Amino acid sequence: MKKIAVLTSGGDSPGMNAAIRAVVRKGIYSGLEVYGVYQGYAGLMEGNLKKLDLGSVGDIIHRGGTILYSARSEEFKKDESQAKAIEHLRHLGIEGLVVIGGDGSYRGAAKLTEKGFPCVCLPGTIDNDIAGTDYTIGFDTALNTVISSIDKIRDTATSHDRAFIIEVMGRHAGDIALFSGLAVGAESIIIPERPFEIEDIVQKLHKGIERGKKHSIIVLAEGVCTGNELSKLLVDQYQIETHVSVLGHMQRGGSPTGLDRILASRLGARAVELLVEGKSGRAIGMQKQEIVDHSINRILNQKDPLSEGVYTLSQQLSI
Ligand code: ADP
Repeated sequence: MKKIAVLTSGGDSPGMNAAIRAVVRKGIYSGLEVYGVYQGYAGLMEGNLKKLDLGSVGDIIHRGGTILYSARSEEFKKDESQAKAIEHLRHLGIEGLVVIGGDGSYRGAAKLTEKGFPCVCLPGTIDNDIAGTDYTIGFDTALNTVISSIDKIRDTATSHDRAFIIEVMGRHAGDIALFSGLAVGAESIIIPERPFEIEDIVQKLHKGIERGKKHSIIVLAEGVCTGNELSKLLVDQYQIETHVSVLGHMQRGGSPTGLDRILASRLGARAVELLVEGKSGRAIGMQKQEIVDHSINRILNQKDPLSEGVYTLSQQLSI
């Protein structure tokens, strides 16, 4: 193998740049030429590729976002679009592709691999919703962003004796809500993976007031309902006033944490090794501190398990 390429796709996440850097530098270290594909699969279909050198990934390890940009493309789901993408890669003599993204991006990589083009995937998403890895690249940074935001809100919540609903990202996966909720000592954590009873939340709010608590924090994953919907329910049915804070896209940005930079660097380097070893269709992750790889198709058919221990603990500590 002489040439490989790397792309970022789907929702961006902090640490994608560190992963790109690792792929490029490990690739060059291993004697390969490395190409960057701009704008994800959309750019791949257009042949938007550029050779990257050591300097092109300098000064990016600490930056959020992705220097290769990301995109979503419905067009790429068509067989003929995937064939066109492979043509562009082969035309440049590229023999392997590293895809950094979420499960949608993994599906695209699985299709290219099926059509005979070797791909390996890295989990780049703040949602921590990919099976076969304990953490995804960007989750730790997003978690810390949420924690520091809630800590600030808690200051004002305490001063004014208020209950706050904090709406965080996570349409299908509640990890950001669950982990941040545990880390800030939230009274209630509401996530898509578990049914929630409004009475439990009301009871906790009342109990807190009885104990003389100055504030209450409810962390809500956006996939359950909006913060405003929950707030309306509480005021209409239980006459409980809450303030709502929607954290939004700030959760996807920012300088990656040390853990995300190291995870991205380790996984990125492993991606190059796998391609050099002639392996393809692999999804790389870290489990119990070890770098591992599984078949992409297996990962796509597996549901990422909710961290049961963390959920149970959050329940036990928020009594
Ligand atoms: P993420 O990778 O963050 O989950 P998306 O679900 O938007 O983000 O997927 C990113 C891109 O991956 C899509 O815009 C599309 O180009 C490609 N993709 C998603 N699903 C498929 C599929 N079934 N077949 C081929 N490509 C796909």
